[in-house]
Amino acid sequence: MGYNVTKMENVFALDIGGSKIVLALVSPEGKILRIEKEKLPPFYGVEVVKETIRKLHHLFPNENVSSIGSTVPALADHKKGIWLYSPFNKIRDFPLGDFLTEEFSVPSFVDNDVNACAIGEKRFGACQKEDDFLWVTVSNGIGGALFLKGELYRGKNGNAGEIGHMRMDFSSDAPFCGCGHQGCLEATSSGRGISARYATLTGKQLEANEIASLARQGEEKAKEAVAYSATLLGRAISYVVNLLNLPLVILGGGVSQSFDLLKPYLLKEIRQGVWQEAAPKVVLKTTSLGYYAATVGAATLALEGIKK
Ligand SMILES: [Zn+2]
Repeated sequence: MGYNVTKMENVFALDIGGSKIVLALVSPEGKILRIEKEKLPPFYGVEVVKETIRKLHHLFPNENVSSIGSTVPALADHKKGIWLYSPFNKIRDFPLGDFLTEEFSVPSFVDNDVNACAIGEKRFGACQKEDDFLWVTVSNGIGGALFLKGELYRGKNGNAGEIGHMRMDFSSDAPFCGCGHQGCLEATSSGRGISARYATLTGKQLEANEIASLARQGEEKAKEAVAYSATLLGRAISYVVNLLNLPLVILGGGVSQSFDLLKPYLLKEIRQGVWQEAAPKVVLKTTSLGYYAATVGAATLALEGIKK
């Protein structure tokens, strides 16, 4: 990784999500100094992204920054700064890096949001002393990123770690995934997956956080939906741990805020699924970067000048 050690100025961190964009001013120590947000409409397109970024930029009129890092909720070409593809709004091949460099007049760095979270966790969070770990975002979708030997492992096409598309439910009525396959982890265990399971059990359409509160109150069907989703998540994690002998797994994303509910199922699957002789002490934690993990990740892209 290219460390930008000569200039220790603040950076801009842009976190583009499924429903909002965050622009933050972040110090070289990873501290968020100021943060602004704008909502995005569902199925937003490129023009809305550009307009929203310009609007946010106007809120920071005179900042001196060395660079800008941006996360995208999409497959990304981090070398060229391109937003390759996001299934939920069909944005394809958007040269976000070029747009950012022009808009902010500084070098720009773009990467997938989950990769950025893992990079941020390694530099500023719970993984500073750990070279091998899996980062899993559980929100409306499920994404994963792998750190191996102290570096983000990208794979042949830059898309390693896609744990969300491991097929976990092989029953004929398993939910379909946005990728077109049936029974993917993203379809069974994301926030949407929990909602879909609950709807199948009760006929009622609720958000994952509402189902989590019902489960905390002891509602049987809500507990059943959580158990189904968390068990398959834990099982998928156990497969990855067995394959790579990882000592640490970090969970982030909105659903991880219900870690108290998921944890017993996750730990049970890890205990039952991981070969204990090979990996006796797997640690499972939630991100230490909190709600703004992706924002800190975006800043880290800029601070480290990551294009490798
Ligand atoms: Zn899938």
